Amino acid sequence: MVVPIAVCLGFGFFAFDAFIDASFFDEDRRGFLTNLVDPEPMDIWMRMVVFVLIVSFSLYARFLMRGLVALTDELTEQRDSLAQRVAEATEELQMRNNSLEDEILLRNNLEADLRELAITDPLTRLFNRRKFLEDMAAANLVDRRYKTGIAIILCDIDRFKVINDTNGHDVGDAVLIRFAEILKKNTRETDIVARWGGEEFAILVASNEAPKVVAIAEKLRQSIQEATFPRSLSVTASFGVAILGGDGDIDTLMGDADKALYRVKAEGRNAVRFFGEPASQAP
Ligand code: GH3
Ligand code: MG
Ligand code: MG
Repeated sequence: MVVPIAVCLGFGFFAFDAFIDASFFDEDRRGFLTNLVDPEPMDIWMRMVVFVLIVSFSLYARFLMRGLVALTDELTEQRDSLAQRVAEATEELQMRNNSLEDEILLRNNLEADLRELAITDPLTRLFNRRKFLEDMAAANLVDRRYKTGIAIILCDIDRFKVINDTNGHDVGDAVLIRFAEILKKNTRETDIVARWGGEEFAILVASNEAPKVVAIAEKLRQSIQEATFPRSLSVTASFGVAILGGDGDIDTLMGDADKALYRVKAEGRNAVRFFGEPASQAP
């Protein structure tokens, strides 16, 4: 395409030069056609040189254009392949990100499960002894700062061994689960209820008012006595209550509650005793 155009331009220049010669420089007035087909020798050389220049320049321009087009094509191809690689890498990163997010979620759930397992009694789903001790230590700190008070209610199912021996261990387990349910149902959200061990349970109440805590224990004792248990068993429990003294520590507090509970057992069971309360008179 470029060559025919260049040739036409070359011949066009022939005609243009003949027209210029005929119009302005021809003193013999030979006319346009004669100037075209039979030019002066100088004109022939000049026209040939210009013709060759036009064609050469056109060919060179064509060469440059082709190079430019090839370069543009290559750049476009590289850009497309780069865009595709970026898209693929982004997709892969997105997938890895999703799978990492899934893994983090799984680990978080697992961690939460493990945390719960570490503080929960597997049978009754109450807090376990370890968690209770931690909560007591925390409550002790709060008590030192704000004087909120700490009271412990320790309770133990009466003659539980007989229940086990007569009905089997599974029924014993079911009784423990029901017992825990009743304790939970009859205490406040703020009270910490835990399985202290075996058929013994502990309740932490943030209070330093003995009558109030004894009343809570008494309410629990009655609830147990009136509740229905598996196989319609009659179940009772004994309760020991203690309050943290001014300079006492939580180990002493637990010991005091245990002593009060021991006294109930010694006095016949199914009752509430406050540590330090005078022993009931024998009839
Ligand atoms: P007391 O009124 O003096 O407390 O008598 P008790 O029979 O309740 O106390 P004792 O300590 O003699 O017996 C407690 C029994 O509790 C013995 C033990 O086998 C049973 N026990 C402890 N943990 C579990 C448990 O998780 N499941 C069952 N089924 N029994 C348990
Ligand atoms: Mg017992
Ligand atoms: Mg016991």
